Amino acid sequence: MRWLRRGARRSDAWQGCRTSTPSHAIVARSWSALALGVFLALLVAARSLTAAAQADLAAERARMVATIEAHAKQASIALGRDSIAPEILKVVGDVPRHEFVPDRVRGDAYADRPLPIGYGQTVSQPFIVALMTDLLRVRPGDVVLEVGTGSGYQAAVLAHLARRVYTIEIVPALADSAAARLQRLGYGNVATRSGDGYYGWEEAEPFDGIIVTAAASQIPPPLIRQLKPGGRMVIPLGAPFALQHLVLVERNADDGRVTTKQLLPVSFVPLTSGSRQR
Ligand code: SAH
Repeated sequence: MRWLRRGARRSDAWQGCRTSTPSHAIVARSWSALALGVFLALLVAARSLTAAAQADLAAERARMVATIEAHAKQASIALGRDSIAPEILKVVGDVPRHEFVPDRVRGDAYADRPLPIGYGQTVSQPFIVALMTDLLRVRPGDVVLEVGTGSGYQAAVLAHLARRVYTIEIVPALADSAAARLQRLGYGNVATRSGDGYYGWEEAEPFDGIIVTAAASQIPPPLIRQLKPGGRMVIPLGAPFALQHLVLVERNADDGRVTTKQLLPVSFVPLTSGSRQR
């Protein structure tokens, strides 16, 4: 009982302490409570704005995927089938393309067209990225080479499907910014390098798949040598700024023989340097 009474007194004292707080302290407390309230309200608002922005971007990506599917149907005669593999549509529906383009074109990140990425280069139209990825038939254990890193977007898409992606870019500033971007976004299975992709990446060969995202006048022989038997290469071929075709190159698993299939007309920036000297 005594203990209880003591407890009761202590609680009275606690109450007393609160009521005896000087008035300026009360004002200070209410201001800090108000500031805290405003801060929390702003935080909640910012969070719901971010959530709304994320939802908008996801909706834009979903529309982009629908457009890719429509293009695949239109191109079915050239491609011999009328759809892109569902796992690739899932990846392009997930990868934040807006992170790969400059701020000034961010609003168009999911538009159905290529976008400028600086240095006179472009990131391909979403359908072309999906189609080239589909043609490579990437399996989870594969090692893939990309020539023409650009923004790093195509490499990011490949990184979701392959074990490892090696990507080379000839413009050092683009190579640097793509490397930083891929690292920031957590693409740990992509290796980047600045250099002439015409010669491939000897230390990392052979590759299960090679994707060239700039147009060459012929298939670079070093790339054929670095392609595994049974491997596939997708490359736009044709003169710069003239008619080009997307070409599928297959290396036979048994005898290593190379066959090519011309698929559909495309328009790519030229593969520079090594290819030009030949
Ligand atoms: N795949 C890129 C876009 C490719 S644009 C993306 O997802 O953003 C083509 C890129 O190929 C350009 O950045 C260009 O600088 C690069 N390129 C051109 N010739 C090259 C070469 N010989 N070796 C490596 N990269 C080259």
